[in-house]
Amino acid sequence: MKTIILKRGKEDSLHRFHPWVFSGAINRFVPSEPEEGEVVEVETSDGEYIATGHFQIGSIMVRVLSFAHETIDQAFYERYIKSALDVRRCIGVASDPLNNTYRLVHGEGDNLSGLVIDIYGHTAVMQAHSVGIHRDRHVIAEALKTVMADAIDNIFYKSETTLPFKAELGQENGFLLGGSTEDIAVENGLKFHVDWLKGQKTGFFVDQRANRQLLEQYSHGHRVLNMFCYTGGFSFYAMRGGAQLVHSVDSSQKAIDLTNANVRLNFPDDPRHTAYQDDAFRFLDSIPARSDGQKENGEPENGKCPYDLIILDPPAFAKHKNALHNALKGYTRLNQKAFEKLPSGGILFTFSCSQVVTKDQFRAAVFTAAAAARRRVRILHQLHQPADHPINIYHPEGEYLKGLVLYVE
Ligand code: SAH
Repeated sequence: MKTIILKRGKEDSLHRFHPWVFSGAINRFVPSEPEEGEVVEVETSDGEYIATGHFQIGSIMVRVLSFAHETIDQAFYERYIKSALDVRRCIGVASDPLNNTYRLVHGEGDNLSGLVIDIYGHTAVMQAHSVGIHRDRHVIAEALKTVMADAIDNIFYKSETTLPFKAELGQENGFLLGGSTEDIAVENGLKFHVDWLKGQKTGFFVDQRANRQLLEQYSHGHRVLNMFCYTGGFSFYAMRGGAQLVHSVDSSQKAIDLTNANVRLNFPDDPRHTAYQDDAFRFLDSIPARSDGQKENGEPENGKCPYDLIILDPPAFAKHKNALHNALKGYTRLNQKAFEKLPSGGILFTFSCSQVVTKDQFRAAVFTAAAAARRRVRILHQLHQPADHPINIYHPEGEYLKGLVLYVE
């Protein structure tokens, strides 16, 4: 096995179990540079073993899988996937009859850097975010089948868009096991179609489960606007919660079709829901501003904002650190528009899923938006990713989803 020797003093973060080795920390390769995706060992400048991981070309050069000299084979993946399953059992998502949808493996959060596995009923959808995981995909599928036994019949591999694109890699989407086209999954008793083949992420955003449940509690009697609806997750929870009306908006027609299909699946012929294909910023601009007049009582009136609960769950505005500044401006601009429209007593559920935006930065962006709109705002809830998206304590970069529930005076 090839070895990577670190520069002197560059081992500290690995001693603290941080799972990445950056290119700047590497002194040399012994005997030669590994191939992308190859399993390598990492040693200090004094020749002391520190870690084993997948080699990768780029700024992160090793994604660590083990700090304990383990061999990376099927038995290794079985142990680690079993440990991930134990955590899901502990938090109660792996055996809930009303919920057959959860994240089984969350990359570094489960000590499996580069691997994501979501479970939808009897189907596991597996994504590789590193070349090493892509190379190991068949071994991982075998390990997954062994650990999950009868709980899964299908493994769909979906890495066309998540791998660093390199020629000859053979990125592919397809079944590694089974081949069922049954595509309806259940979250908290609500049904939805999962588009494994073409959908974003693994087909559904399983990370908003708890936040959608919270929205349901707030929805009774409200006029709800679900911006960036994608598959309509927040919309059908709002409907079950007793919303007066629910409007869903997304710029993608495919998302609008999925939302309509999912709403129909749960609430056939329910006239409360309408979906619009539109740009979120343009749609918000087209809503009449709230009235500052004395007659404002939360009721819809001509020329008044027709919504009193808005959800903003946009895609990541910053995928890299150098996009951070513009991303924060984007969050401010978007939230300001919502603050300008919501009537007194309105509620805003607002999110950011950009990993490079910290929760303090996001909160500051929303604070700036509230101040610019000159609204008085109370924070009711501070939201985050759910327990089946755990954060490795040594890898704070794994904390990506943050949200606020705000009461607007
Ligand atoms: N809230 C969703 C996830 C949102 S994903 C859920 O609970 O599952 C982000 C969505 O924003 C995608 O569906 C994408 O099509 C949409 N989108 C991206 N840019 C947009 C824009 N400018 N206006 C409206 N929708 C947009």
